[in-house]
Amino acid sequence: MYDVAIIGAGFAGANLASKLENLDVIVIDRSPGSKDVSAVTFIDVVEGNSSAAADGVIKSTYSKFTLFNTLGDIIEYSFDQEIFCLVDYSKLCKNIWNDVVNAEVISYSGNLVVTKDEKIKARVIADCSGIGGESLRAANKIQLPPVINALAFQQLKNPEVNKDSFYLIMGFANFGGWIYPHGRGGEFGMANRFKRGAELTFPDLQMAKELEAVKRFTGSEEGGEVLKVTYPYGFVKKVVYGNTVLLGDSAGLTHPVYGMSLHYISHMSAILATIIEEYIKSTTKLSDYQRYWRNFISGIRTMVCRGYAIWDMPLEIQENLVRLQKRMDISPRSILEDIRGLRKYDVYAKNPPSITDYPVKLLLKVLFYWFKSLFWI
Ligand SMILES: Cc1cc2nc3c(=O)[nH]c(=O)nc-3n(C[C@H](O)[C@H](O)[C@H](O)COP(=O)(O)OP(=O)(O)OC[C@H]3O[C@@H](n4cnc5c(N)ncnc54)[C@H](O)[C@@H]3O)c2cc1C
Repeated sequence: MYDVAIIGAGFAGANLASKLENLDVIVIDRSPGSKDVSAVTFIDVVEGNSSAAADGVIKSTYSKFTLFNTLGDIIEYSFDQEIFCLVDYSKLCKNIWNDVVNAEVISYSGNLVVTKDEKIKARVIADCSGIGGESLRAANKIQLPPVINALAFQQLKNPEVNKDSFYLIMGFANFGGWIYPHGRGGEFGMANRFKRGAELTFPDLQMAKELEAVKRFTGSEEGGEVLKVTYPYGFVKKVVYGNTVLLGDSAGLTHPVYGMSLHYISHMSAILATIIEEYIKSTTKLSDYQRYWRNFISGIRTMVCRGYAIWDMPLEIQENLVRLQKRMDISPRSILEDIRGLRKYDVYAKNPPSITDYPVKLLLKVLFYWFKSLFWI
């Protein structure tokens, strides 16, 4: 019997495994390292793991974050050092944890994880199987994140963008997009967001309005092959079911506005690892993690409501929010706090916004989600 069986060797599974040093752990993945995405995160998320984790992983570093919209508004937030980086995701996961059993998990329950060839016993099962493992969780009646992002992205050749910055775009598709410069190229992508159950349509990267804006910004018309993927979003209420715990995309662990899942996963995996170690020593219960999770969601309630409210707004309002944010002259430090997001949402604007600065429609939406949020947990 293993102490812990981890399903999935993505960032969540790899991170958790690496933090359970004193336990007997098995990590199972049906296609380890196959996820080919670029991800921006804080440099300390990569280097905080170990120097080995960072080896050959960082494709670019950034000291700036730029927000823009299709109306031509640009806001650049500069920091006094390089604090963000773009990573090679699959290399990062492999560097953090390489000891993976290559097998598909068909089902799990109680203390048993079942693959085609084996039945594996473990005291704790950590479901870190991301969106690919949704059928496993559905079969166990585990709640799935409420939102699905349909993403389309491609590589740009020689974009004329500031290589010190990564870019987020508001008012594109039905939510937003990104440009991640690296080397002589860059990645450009857009997201559509849907409530679970709705029919998904992927953004069309050739849509005239968006492409015009991207050309204006990047000077690049050519892109490589367009890749399409889905990605879950929205915190689930329950992350502990008996001796099963959820971490990463399976829990919808991502910032409601900025994404930044790796940063969140890194933080949460450390907490979960401590609780699992204590649980194996019988000095605590696994439900302590559920309690931690509930307090965490409660603490960031305003931020989550704001995120839900924003992506629920029509595109024109989202674009105008960028204009508004520019007018408010929010300090880079505030933006950084907002991106880190794990603490309570606070704005240290140079010119603090008054409540009347915001469109009434947005305030009403935030209020609506706020009331709904009282019943989340
Ligand atoms: C295009 C794109 C861009 C993104 N950009 C960013 C970004 O800039 N910054 C950021 O922080 N985040 C970003 N994200 C989000 C981030 O990539 C995810 O939140 C993160 O990868 C989740 O990690 P995870 O380990 O939970 O899931 P995954 O990385 O999906 O890992 C799950 C693993 O489980 C395995 N698995 C699934 N089912 C089974 C099964 N039945 N049996 C065995 N194994 C199974 C899969 O093979 C996979 O390896 C982006 C996502 C996408 C798609």
